[in-house]
Amino acid sequence: MNKNQCSFCGRKRNEVEMLVAGQEGFICETCIEQAHGIVKEGAKKDGSSPAQKLEDLKKPKVIKTYLDEYVIGQDQAKKQLSIAVYNHYKRLLHSKVENREVEIEKSNIIMIGETGTGKTLLAKTIARELNVPFCIVDATILTEAGYVGEDVESILSRLLMVADYDVEKAERGIVFIDEIDKIARKSDNPSITRDVSGEGVQQGLLKLLEGSIVNVPPQGGRKHPDQKYIQVNTQNILFIAGGAFDGIKEIIERRLNKQAIGFSAEKLNNTAEESYILSQINAIDLRKFGLIPELLGRFPIVTHLDALTKETMIRIMTEPKNSIVNQFVELFKMDGIKLEFTEGAIERIVEETIEKGLGARGLRGTTEKVLEDHMFSIGEHEEIILNADDIKIGS
Ligand code: ADP
Repeated sequence: MNKNQCSFCGRKRNEVEMLVAGQEGFICETCIEQAHGIVKEGAKKDGSSPAQKLEDLKKPKVIKTYLDEYVIGQDQAKKQLSIAVYNHYKRLLHSKVENREVEIEKSNIIMIGETGTGKTLLAKTIARELNVPFCIVDATILTEAGYVGEDVESILSRLLMVADYDVEKAERGIVFIDEIDKIARKSDNPSITRDVSGEGVQQGLLKLLEGSIVNVPPQGGRKHPDQKYIQVNTQNILFIAGGAFDGIKEIIERRLNKQAIGFSAEKLNNTAEESYILSQINAIDLRKFGLIPELLGRFPIVTHLDALTKETMIRIMTEPKNSIVNQFVELFKMDGIKLEFTEGAIERIVEETIEKGLGARGLRGTTEKVLEDHMFSIGEHEEIILNADDIKIGS
């Protein structure tokens, strides 16, 4: 090994700014930069090249196993989502087949579930697994074109942004439309007055959902007369919509009562029964809720997420790869401190969070509050064991 030259380009020590030593040789700053460029380019190709063959596509079971690592419970939703996503990307391959006689249509998905049950997490996790651009939009900020608020095209501006304005990449992305229930028609009758934030937006969304070429203002927001547009084909973009659909259970119950004689008319509060009722959801109920039939036609897959029980919340605290417990243990480990949560402590944190009615979303905040003093005086103890008695919030 020659200590006086770069082992890659052979430049002498006096010809370079620096030489970094490795076990078997040296590398100069120019070669490091070049190597970095190659790695970056390679990663870009890897990440953005779509599966070319059916064998390259991840099968539904593989997708579900990946989801299991991050999302607790919600088996039915995970299963349906895995199948839908697999079929979606299979369809992309099919669209390249020449002389095909059957045209496979897109299957967008609606997820129904209370807030904080994991809808966004599911969509986000699936996009990460597939390595496709992903964005979240809130349906409530959208209004019909020409009114105050954002046009539906702004959804695609966001997708373009996360795809670094690589149109081809964006065209294979996933869009999560949150709070789709908030743009429900206000009453079951077609509107007499204009409903610019409800039905009008639903109408506007149709164009994106059905697969067409849409002119997208690059900056999003309101269209500007002399702004240049980017054309995006939405045919292969997968749309996943989510919403709490408050009151949908009663609508399903009513329909079930009508259909099945002998179905208990009593109020059903038990979680298992509630989840059974929700599992019966179909497009008829969503239509009753106020989604227009044309929109529902473009969301052929309807799935539901179960409400979180205390047991599920405890699992959420500990089981996922990046669970809250793991995250804080890691944070303390950086200071060389061993942090441990006893089962009792975790249970108390969950109970406190449930009391606040924040769902799983509140778990982090509660834990943060519990650890506040320990984080403030970090470094004073080498080991912290949290017991149930240590969890005193609001006192
Ligand atoms: P939603 O979209 O249904 O309102 P989110 O997916 O945004 O809810 O969930 C909020 C947070 O709660 C997530 O970031 C995650 O930390 C946690 N969470 C909710 N449900 C689950 C679940 N089933 N498994 C793991 N974590 C969950």
